[in-house]
Amino acid sequence: MSNMRKSPIAMHQEEFRKIGYQLIDEISNFMGTIAQRAVTPNDSPKDLQHLLGDHSFPENGKSASDLLSKTTNLLFNHSLLNGHPKFLGYITSSAAPIGGLADLLAASVNPNVGAHILSPIATEIEKQTVRWLSEFIGLTPDYGGILVSGGNMANFTAFLAARTAKAPKSIKEDGIQNSTQKLTVYCSKSTHTWIEKATVLFGLGTNSIRWIPTDASNKMDITVLEATVKKDIENACIPLMVVGTAGDVSTGVVDNLKAISSICKTYNLWFHIDGAYGAPAAIIPKLKHMFDGLHEADSIALDPHKWLYSPLEAGCTLVKNPQYLIDTYSSHPEYYNFSTNEGDIAQNFYEYGFQNSRGFRALKVWLGLQQLGRSGYEKLIGEDIELSEILFEIADKHPELEAVTQNLSITTFRYVPITHTKNNTYLNALNEELLNTLQTGGEVFLSNAIVNERYCLRACVVNFRTSKKDIMEIVEIVVRVGKKVHLKQSQVATTKNL
Ligand SMILES: *Cc1c(COP(=O)(O)O)cnc(C)c1O
Repeated sequence: MSNMRKSPIAMHQEEFRKIGYQLIDEISNFMGTIAQRAVTPNDSPKDLQHLLGDHSFPENGKSASDLLSKTTNLLFNHSLLNGHPKFLGYITSSAAPIGGLADLLAASVNPNVGAHILSPIATEIEKQTVRWLSEFIGLTPDYGGILVSGGNMANFTAFLAARTAKAPKSIKEDGIQNSTQKLTVYCSKSTHTWIEKATVLFGLGTNSIRWIPTDASNKMDITVLEATVKKDIENACIPLMVVGTAGDVSTGVVDNLKAISSICKTYNLWFHIDGAYGAPAAIIPKLKHMFDGLHEADSIALDPHKWLYSPLEAGCTLVKNPQYLIDTYSSHPEYYNFSTNEGDIAQNFYEYGFQNSRGFRALKVWLGLQQLGRSGYEKLIGEDIELSEILFEIADKHPELEAVTQNLSITTFRYVPITHTKNNTYLNALNEELLNTLQTGGEVFLSNAIVNERYCLRACVVNFRTSKKDIMEIVEIVVRVGKKVHLKQSQVATTKNL
């Protein structure tokens, strides 16, 4: 080997600059034309496999420039574009452009945000991000936390802090198999599937979940909650936590957080809020009352990659007493030399959550928070909500649409043909087929919700690119395609009847 190493993975400064500029040019064009593109190209898995080819792993390398320009086209032309103004499916936002630049910058410097010594400024930026996020949603400054990959991980991270706080102390050493008392958790039936995963992963088992029914407005029934907790205590169970949801994933309902908090206080339970989607709406003045009790939570999960428009992945766990995170996750192997620095407490994020080596996902959130500020977010989130309300109103007035629910920025509605029986089984089949047709058509992307046995189309506006014009056009598309699907379905139904 010669003294000077020439490594094929390195890029000369000038080469990096040239390829980088080219990439940025192409991304700029892509973003500038996103509204004119199809929401999805609707390629089949087979088409895509064909496109990639079935060559085995290449023996020799290729030029970075060629690879990047080919890959750019591959991604631009064969992706579902959740940044498209007519993408309103699930809860996936349009990603803020500054987030893409932030990710490039973060990866270029590449700090390991597991330990302060490995990421001095990045760790401080993450700490500030966590503090700003809790300020953003109106919490007191005692909350601490960590950024994670998303809502599931944010909820898991908090779930284990709750277990540490409320289960017998011996659990850390002995595990839960030696506990003679059953540990129980409480949530409404509209809680996201993470709760089932959590009880499976962390050894409690799904039977530890007490599914509390919801009332007429789809909020957790507080009377049943209290009765269930009481009964479990009488039966020598150990209730750990209640999960309240601030914006359920299906129709955006916010539980009565204040009432849940008061039950948690009475029975000494951990109060966790899943605000993965909805928590940022707490900054909207006219909705503030819906989030009463938010600041009483022991822990909160929220997802900057949803309503704060950060690119995937960014979730956040906030805990009122962050010591419970350290008590859960901290350990000190002898090969770590991460001690404190001149009397200053250096925070090592590996002690706050699941990950050891950690990327700098805080940067895109931190920059987004500053680019918009509180007023910017209030404007964008407020407009998303307004667009959702407009969609509901139009659907409500439209002779061929039925408006079903509207909460936060989620509207559910369905297509109801004028000239047909209002048979619910038929309408469900019709709307399911309509959704499938819309999802593959490339004009608009919606998802679905089942509300009181009605199969609904569901639009969730967490998209700063969507305008009122898009909403009107979406209505036209739904009605036009709805008519077509109805015509086809009713002919099939008639033929079957013959
Ligand atoms: C989206 C969502 C989750 C899951 O979050 P991911 O980021 O997809 O892991 C959990 N709970 C609620 C209420 C959500 O909206």
